[in-house]
Amino acid sequence: MKIGFIGLGHMGAPMATNLCQKGFDVTVFDLVPQAIETLVTVGATAALTITSIAQCCDVIITMLPQGEHVEAVCTGDNGLFAHAKPGTLFIDCSSIAVDMTRQLAKLAISKDCSHLDAPVSGGMIGAINGTLTFMVGGELSDFTRAMCLFEAMGIHIFHAGGHGNGQAAKICNNMLLGISMIGTSEAFVLANKLGLDNQTFFDIASNASGQCWSMTHYCPVPGPVPTSPANHAHQPGFTTAMMLKDLRLSQTAAAQVGVSTPLGASAMALYTLLNNHGLAQTDFSAIIKLLQGDLK
Ligand code: NAD
Repeated sequence: MKIGFIGLGHMGAPMATNLCQKGFDVTVFDLVPQAIETLVTVGATAALTITSIAQCCDVIITMLPQGEHVEAVCTGDNGLFAHAKPGTLFIDCSSIAVDMTRQLAKLAISKDCSHLDAPVSGGMIGAINGTLTFMVGGELSDFTRAMCLFEAMGIHIFHAGGHGNGQAAKICNNMLLGISMIGTSEAFVLANKLGLDNQTFFDIASNASGQCWSMTHYCPVPGPVPTSPANHAHQPGFTTAMMLKDLRLSQTAAAQVGVSTPLGASAMALYTLLNNHGLAQTDFSAIIKLLQGDLK
């Protein structure tokens, strides 16, 4: 099985590296030549164009910033779909809109190819350590066919249902994460003002009904969870810009299906504010600074 991998950034480079190190035959492409050269040092083959990947590979993984990039790589006269062999399996691991992923899947199928949306959770650390969570939408038979690849890059691998359901799971999860981070931050700000120190409130709330992942694994205040970005000046981690991107995707999807997500909408507004205060590249847990009135 010849694997193509397009998009060798923060996530794609370590994911492709894991595939190479586990013995897969991987051909790589990125717009940045240096990114390709780095992968060649761990055993990948360099491709000169997207077209050449389409012509030689059986499975093609994309890990690109936004939907527009995935669309540009897949469609059009020089895109993957126009040049792929029948039977090629496309796996898009980027986080993109549910409706766009469903359109791309349809287009791939019309070319006698298969398509899976397989966005990930776990960040760069998960990508480097091969411990990502994959949320996969598409045919079960294609999911099964790709399992050995997912297992080389991740540990929690879920089939979420039909095309687009992986993206749906990802944006709903991240909408909840954004909301819970804001809620956790509000609770700490109020607790402090009412006279509780961070550790005392953490000890109580993490063992009471306010407990959630944003508190126990990614606590927005320094101290209680030593590995959380709050202990390192909110260095990412998962940036405000990325949280905002996923919240925007969730709100677009909610509008498309006519569902009201008022807390998701409020979370998007607050993260837009944080983003516009120049904290786009800061960890998303820095939302607490906005609530503390602590933005310079
Ligand atoms: P990144 O910007 O670091 O990397 C993207 C790579 O794609 C770059 O190397 C860029 O040169 C390349 N690229 C862009 N257009 C291209 C094209 N037309 N042809 C070939 N290469 C092209 O992004 P990232 O942080 O690796 O994120 C990738 C995806 O994963 C995004 O959709 C993001 O939302 C999602 N994601 C990221 C994280 C994270 O922590 N970084 C976590 C979960 C999901």
